[in-house]
Amino acid sequence: MSSDPSPKRLKRGNEEISSDSYAANSNVDSPAYSRGELWFDDGNIILIAERTGFRVHKSILSWCSEVFRDMFPVPQPVDAEMWGDCPVVHLSDTKQDVERMLTMLFTKSTSGFGEVLPFVTVSTMIRLGSKYQIDHILQDAIYRLKKCFPVQLEAFRNSYTTTPAGHRLPPNPFAGLPIHITLGDIIPVINLCRTHQFPSVLPSAFYLAAGCTSQILVHGSKDADGIRSTLSSDDIVRVLEGRSKLHHSAAMAFHPAMSSTLSPLCTNRAACISSLEFVVKIKLYERVTQGHPILPLRTPRPLQKWGICNSCSEHHASIWLENRKTVWAKLPEIFDLEVPEWGLPVAQQ
Ligand SMILES: [Zn+2]
Repeated sequence: MSSDPSPKRLKRGNEEISSDSYAANSNVDSPAYSRGELWFDDGNIILIAERTGFRVHKSILSWCSEVFRDMFPVPQPVDAEMWGDCPVVHLSDTKQDVERMLTMLFTKSTSGFGEVLPFVTVSTMIRLGSKYQIDHILQDAIYRLKKCFPVQLEAFRNSYTTTPAGHRLPPNPFAGLPIHITLGDIIPVINLCRTHQFPSVLPSAFYLAAGCTSQILVHGSKDADGIRSTLSSDDIVRVLEGRSKLHHSAAMAFHPAMSSTLSPLCTNRAACISSLEFVVKIKLYERVTQGHPILPLRTPRPLQKWGICNSCSEHHASIWLENRKTVWAKLPEIFDLEVPEWGLPVAQQ
C-alpha cells in the first residue's frame, strides 16, 4: 500500500466538503482517483489500477487468491492509505485487466464454459489468473485456448480447415469456438503462450500467423485495449521460413504429375486427364504466383465442375487429405518448435 495525502478540503460539484465529512463517508468521490464500474457500497477494500478504483470485498478476493490474501494485512497499518473509511491497495495492472478480472470474480456476466469470450478477456484470465493464482479462471482460459488450438488435426475445426480450398472464408473463421479470435489476435496468442509456456498451442497458431500480412508480422497488431504486440525476431524468422515451406507444400499439392494420376475406377480417362491438366496448370499457377501458405490444411475442393469423374475427384481428395495429415504432423518441424505432445490423444498429453 502507498500513501497519497488528501487535501484538507475537497470539492464535489459546487459544494465544498471538509476532510472530516470525506473520511466519514467512503462513497464520496476521491480527488485523486475515479471510480470504476465495479463499486459495491458495502465493499471493504478499494483496488486502484491506473488511478481507477474498484470497491469490492476482501473476503471474496482472499478466498479466490492467496496472493490477494497476503495483500490485506491484519491489523491494518496505521499509515495505510484510505479512500474515505475504506483501505486502498494499488495494483500494477491496467484498469481494463483489473475490471475484467473483478467482473469474473464478482459477477457471472463473463465467466462460464458455455459463453464465447473475446480473446482479450481470455488473455486477462491467463495473465492475471497466473499472477494472482486464481486457479479456476486460469484453468477456464487454458481449456478455451486448447479447444481453439488443439494438438490433433481432427479437433482443429474452424473455417480454415472446413472451407474448401479456393472458396472465400467467412468473416469470422473461428465461429463456434469458445474464444472469439481473429487473425489479428494470433500474435498476442503466440506471445501469451510463449510467456506462460503452453507449447502445444504454438504450431497451429504459427500456421495461422503464416497467413498474416508481412506488415502485421513485422510491426505487430493491437489488441482490443489498444496494446500492441510484436513477435520476437526469432519468431518472425520461424513464421517466414515456415511460410515458405507451407507455400512449397501448397504448390506440390498441384504438382504437374497429379494431372496423370487417375482413380483406378475412372470412368472417362481421356476427359479426366485433359481436365486434370487444365486444373493443375491453372491452380498451380494461382498458388505459385499468389501464394496461399495457409492452404494445405484447407478441405479439398470438389473437382467435378471441371468435368472430372466422381472417382477421380474422390481419388484426388484422398491425396489432398493425406497431404493435409502430413503437413499437420510436421507443423512443429516446419516452424522449428519443440512440442512433445503434438498429435497425441488428449489422454496421453
Ligand atoms: Zn476419372
